[in-house]
Amino acid sequence: MSTMAPTEHALAAATTATPPPHFVTVPLAAQGHIIPLVGLARLLAERGARASVVTTPLNVARLRGVAEQAARAGLPLEFVGLPFQPPDAGLPLDCQNFDMLDDNSQFNPFFDALRELAGPFDAYVRALAPRPSCIISDWCNPWTAGVASGLGIPRLFFYGPSCFFSLCDLKATEHGLHERIAAGDDREQYVVPGVPVPVKVTKATAPGFLTHPGCEMFRYESIEAMRTADGVVVNTFLDLEAQFVACYETALGKPVWTVGPLSLVNRDLEATASLGKTVAVNQQAITAWLDEQAPDSVMYVSFGSIARKFSKQLFEVGHGLKDSGNPFLWVVKESEATSPEVQQWLHALEECTAGRGLVVRGWAPQLTVLSHRAVGGFVTHCGWNSLLEAIAHGVPVVTWPHFEDQFLNERLAVDVLGVGVPIGVTAPVFILDDEPVPVVRGDILRAVSALMGGGEEADERRRKAKEYGEKARRAMEKGGSSYENLTRLIESFVQSGVKEH
Ligand code: UDP
Repeated sequence: MSTMAPTEHALAAATTATPPPHFVTVPLAAQGHIIPLVGLARLLAERGARASVVTTPLNVARLRGVAEQAARAGLPLEFVGLPFQPPDAGLPLDCQNFDMLDDNSQFNPFFDALRELAGPFDAYVRALAPRPSCIISDWCNPWTAGVASGLGIPRLFFYGPSCFFSLCDLKATEHGLHERIAAGDDREQYVVPGVPVPVKVTKATAPGFLTHPGCEMFRYESIEAMRTADGVVVNTFLDLEAQFVACYETALGKPVWTVGPLSLVNRDLEATASLGKTVAVNQQAITAWLDEQAPDSVMYVSFGSIARKFSKQLFEVGHGLKDSGNPFLWVVKESEATSPEVQQWLHALEECTAGRGLVVRGWAPQLTVLSHRAVGGFVTHCGWNSLLEAIAHGVPVVTWPHFEDQFLNERLAVDVLGVGVPIGVTAPVFILDDEPVPVVRGDILRAVSALMGGGEEADERRRKAKEYGEKARRAMEKGGSSYENLTRLIESFVQSGVKEH
């Protein structure tokens, strides 16, 4: 292991006339994928490498704040918008991020449109002199694999969720569990084989990305791209899930680089506030409101960038929060509050909970909120970024998974880490589905009270959350596991090519 500081590596490379390695990152066009990969690119640039983020033009525009901040800091970090034509797939021109989709029927056409980025991406990479040292592309961007192999450039894939989820998913695929589940009874429980702790799933909660109808080819291509990659970069840290990282690395047969929590490198919270579909509203007002609240008293409630609740479900959440008597900060998406009925209802809720309830409309500055001392709990949909951001800030969670990896993220938080209270959902709501209401006000009241209340179990949850928060911080500091992994990752590509892990 090297003892040189990161900038020294870059300097050493420069003095021997070897340019610093250039990493080209290609996130899936969705917030939950862009945010961590931009965090990684920024970190690579801070640590002496050159980094580029390649995405669609709309996302580059949203990233302007981050780009300007990086430019002011003199970082070699660039943002590249590839020519993108969603109308060719029957979508509006501004449909350039999953949060711009209006309904589930646009899901597969959007993936088709993204696949067409392969040509422009190939042209972009070919024009780079010298060629990039490494492409780090999202698991859901399999179209990057052919470009990398065609030009002989090493490629790592970036897998959004935890190693716990990735291991379960890999083992389920390897052992044909998905096929058995598909042929089985809806209520049957299955144990995921080959995982070091017992993990039970049902047809509804079985692991897997891109498993919905019409996505079979895309899933197949993604698995193939995973098989042919040179390794994987994961936004997690060793002290959180060391045994799953080790098993995943063995199962995958490739290096697993754990480099997170990447949210802890997001020091410019103002810049990240502009990443959403709408710019975060009035950060100062949110902070001022939080400043008024007692330490660890506020329940933060947010369901990520994509999941959308219809009015009946929204009302149950609001009633549950009101009935809990607990201070709360609840993020309601603009798309959820378009009707006058919902707007009036939210207004009335704000009036009757004045002082202890704040409803934020649109995009909230989540890292600002989670890092505030007043926040003591988080009702989350268990998107991996949200869950890891909570853990990194020592905040325990109420788990309300909606789709894909989120049910297994819930298992990790509740059963393995002991930092969560489940809200009790057993079936997915797929992205924009208008489903019957799976969670009623009583569920919210029970879970919020259990998480925020007193008693041994609640205290133990808080203690564990704080302990993981501390370990997360240490992982990212010099000498910490994620810090040192990133050092080794950069070193591996100084001469271009994958070396020993
Ligand atoms: N996020 C945010 N403000 C919001 C909603 C989301 O900053 O109002 C960020 C959040 O901090 C996280 C990401 O968006 O980094 C959401 O990713 P996650 O994996 O939690 O869920 P997804 O959006 O992919 O379902």
